[in-house]
Amino acid sequence: MKGVVVGEEGRIRHSAVVPSPAESDTNPVEELRRLCRLLHGEALALGVAPAGIGVVAPGIVDETAGVVRYASNIRFRDVPLRTLIRDDLGLPVAVGHDARAAGIAEAVSGAARGLDNFLLLPLGTGIAATVVLNGEPVAGADWSAGEVGHMPVHPGGEPCACGQRGCLEVYASAGGVARRYIRLGGTPGLDSRAIAEATGTDPLARSVWDTATHALGTALATLTLALDPARIVLGGGLAEAGARLFDPVRDTLRSALAWRTAPEVLPSAFGARAAQVGAAILARRAAGLAVPEGWGAQNGPAPAPTY
Ligand SMILES: [Zn+2]
Repeated sequence: MKGVVVGEEGRIRHSAVVPSPAESDTNPVEELRRLCRLLHGEALALGVAPAGIGVVAPGIVDETAGVVRYASNIRFRDVPLRTLIRDDLGLPVAVGHDARAAGIAEAVSGAARGLDNFLLLPLGTGIAATVVLNGEPVAGADWSAGEVGHMPVHPGGEPCACGQRGCLEVYASAGGVARRYIRLGGTPGLDSRAIAEATGTDPLARSVWDTATHALGTALATLTLALDPARIVLGGGLAEAGARLFDPVRDTLRSALAWRTAPEVLPSAFGARAAQVGAAILARRAAGLAVPEGWGAQNGPAPAPTY
């Protein structure tokens, strides 16, 4: 779990990390509270009097109640984070979803600045989209909108950890690319970045990469037809492949759309830091402070991990 202290001007002043609860036998809720107290103390030591706290988590997050309903990889279930942390530190607390917070950061100060309708897809271990419509991230009826990583792109195709077959993230997440390449007999030890770089010399890397970009472009066509975004922003480890990713994805998207123009497809401005900047924006809003356009823009981009 990572935390940052952000100054009034939007610049990250201090970062702290506590071990991921998945890798230890500690109580994850207590670890998170400890991280918040630690950052609060660090802020005071820097001469920053905190106005509010933003906490974002993966999984199913009820932002209205301030409760993380379910987050499997950090072992949270029905955790009333807003109440816990507010009682610990006596400050306004916003609780949000990590991907939706990343979308807020891109909309306020990043690659979707000023846009009311756009999609953000971080291509990491999996793929979860932030869908922003009319200026608001869409949470869905049950706080689980945007799980596009499990859209079927090859019905009956390769199995996904979710129990379905042929899901987008089996083929086109950074983790999926690395797993497929190894499963099909590729050189051991290559992560998605190395596979992208090997496409000129390694036919299997070429094939896995082409499958990934084609699946992603096809999925983006479906999303474009359903949602009519002005722009699609791609982040996560896979987006760091640059033109090797963006050129074929744009081509597939364009050729899949016969009667309408394709939206722009651009890289994330904040990379792996987007959720942190988004959490800071949520904290300012919880504290009743204005968030001017461009606030926090000086922080990005941060390199994303690859798989
Ligand atoms: Zn799936």
